[in-house]
Amino acid sequence: MPMSTKRLLAESLGPIVDLIYPPRCPACGEGLGEQSGLCVACWSDLVIPSDPACLSCQRPFGESGPRAGASCASCLADPPVHDGIAAGTLYTETSRKLVLAFKHGRRIAMAPMLARQISARIANPSPERVLVPVPLHRWRLWQRGYNQAALLAQELARMGHGSLAVDALVRKRRTPSLGGLGAKARVRALAGAIEVAQPDRVKNRDCILVDDVLTSGATSTACVKALKNAGARSVVIACFARVLDEAIDPARQSAL
Ligand SMILES: [Zn+2]
Ligand SMILES: [Zn+2]
Repeated sequence: MPMSTKRLLAESLGPIVDLIYPPRCPACGEGLGEQSGLCVACWSDLVIPSDPACLSCQRPFGESGPRAGASCASCLADPPVHDGIAAGTLYTETSRKLVLAFKHGRRIAMAPMLARQISARIANPSPERVLVPVPLHRWRLWQRGYNQAALLAQELARMGHGSLAVDALVRKRRTPSLGGLGAKARVRALAGAIEVAQPDRVKNRDCILVDDVLTSGATSTACVKALKNAGARSVVIACFARVLDEAIDPARQSAL
């Protein structure tokens, strides 16, 4: 086969093959041979939240912090509206690369692997819960082709964590990037942007709000408030990577 034909074939098959058998570690690009998922080095680089942790938000205290049964300073100052946070990993360079590959690199075949990490962190698993993904605005959904949070919620439903209510929440309007905004400005930017479209699905139910990354919490807080206003009994937030400043290794911070 001439070289150019070979290359053409490889390129046209590339994305499809990639989706079914990811041949390389999505975090570092290392070849994986037969196995799928992550390379051993990247697995060991993931940081799983550990105990003791905050009673309200499960923020790990670390060895020098308070004992189990206490709440962290931010939960004491401003009690959260959610009923707990189940984070698969803490946000580090490796989990960031995984999320980027999943969200922007179209590596949707990663959904089961990421969801397994989340699943392991959900306390008292129950099929009676309702899984609600953080919604994307339909314009962004159209651009990306999929809602990464909905893919994770779908996997969690398959793993027995509840029934999927993929359109229970909707984003009524596009919101600006929250990146450069302070806490109050974020809340203002999101006011009225997120609504419950299917109140019957969440009323009197225990819900799990699913997202890939949990950052400032402004978006998730707006979602939790909307669900509770619609009568949800409880809302636990489940995410693959939770951003905590202290979880980032200062030696690696420059690379983030
Ligand atoms: Zn790797
Ligand atoms: Zn806390």
